[in-house]
Amino acid sequence: MLLTGTGRLAPEGPTPWALLVRDGLIAWIGSLSEAPSDERIDLGSALVTPGLIDSHTHPVFDGDRSEGVAARLAGAPYTDGGILRSVRATRAADDATLERLVETRLRSALSAGTTTVECKSGYGLSLAEELRHLRIIGRVAERMPLRVIRTFLGAHAVPSDFKAAEYAAHVADEMIPAVAAEGAAEFVDVFADVGFFDLAATERIGRAALDAGLGLRLHAEQLARTGAAELGVRLGAASVDHLEQLDASGVAILGGSTTVATLLPAPALILRDRMPPARALLEAGASVALASDANAGTYGAFGSMPLVIGLGATLLGMTVVEALTAATAGGAAALQRPELGSLRPGMAADLVAWDAEHEGAFALHLGAVRPHRIWIAGGEIAL
Ligand SMILES: [Zn+2]
Repeated sequence: MLLTGTGRLAPEGPTPWALLVRDGLIAWIGSLSEAPSDERIDLGSALVTPGLIDSHTHPVFDGDRSEGVAARLAGAPYTDGGILRSVRATRAADDATLERLVETRLRSALSAGTTTVECKSGYGLSLAEELRHLRIIGRVAERMPLRVIRTFLGAHAVPSDFKAAEYAAHVADEMIPAVAAEGAAEFVDVFADVGFFDLAATERIGRAALDAGLGLRLHAEQLARTGAAELGVRLGAASVDHLEQLDASGVAILGGSTTVATLLPAPALILRDRMPPARALLEAGASVALASDANAGTYGAFGSMPLVIGLGATLLGMTVVEALTAATAGGAAALQRPELGSLRPGMAADLVAWDAEHEGAFALHLGAVRPHRIWIAGGEIAL
């Protein structure tokens, strides 16, 4: 299959361009005049980008917390009570209900141009429930075309029948080995913040993850500057996510590391929080990703990666190309999938042709940019 066009192949490419797909991979990219002959699909002047990568989502939950957001915006404090409310509603939902909810959420993501999505558990907080949620993600992933990467977030909050240190030990010693033995997740995540898991508990859980052969990612520096970013770097975490409270010393540590800084502007906006220091991180040489953090209580929209790119280019002070790159190659780095997220020979043929002509549309329309056609591993997805 030879895709051709006269528009933008973003973030950089020739014009007019041609892109040859073979066996699910990009086999060749060049100018149209030098293209090999193959079955040809002309995309005209459409903007074409890599498929978007949402490297931070929490799709397995039931219950509606819109009222809690309204209360918080009216001045109520943010506490962990919200997560535990979602845990109660999710534990009470049967498999079919949760599968339907997850499928609907992932379909929204796909139809907005996300071709790879990371999905966390974390509204179960017991071994049986967490495994149930990870299996539900797995079953939905099997019948959907987008690429799904599972993360075990048993350490999302401390359930009411445990003390924090006891629960951290339970996550490290009982839950992680069981998740790893089943192959139910590739990564372990910890909500490393005040009121949730302190640095000692986070390190205990992180080391258990690495010992079990799983990758590590952290919710870090969202509510307070705790040193979780430094801990993530020291443990070799794939990514530290949030970073709203990160300061200059944390920026410098991430700038000199391979741990990706994943920024989540949508929940920060809804919580009226400060924005993470995106410009400083980029200037320090950090690898930066943008993701949605779609979840039960602080940001609810799953089909929103075009908006997240727009927020990166406005609220976070990134250029549009930096924001688009963070939502594609940056997400791939955060998920340790180097074969995804870039338009180069040898990479996966995950592509989106947009109803737009230039990547500036992500800022101009602030999220209201829709895919026109989508391919994953060279196969076209029915929209
Ligand atoms: Zn999150």
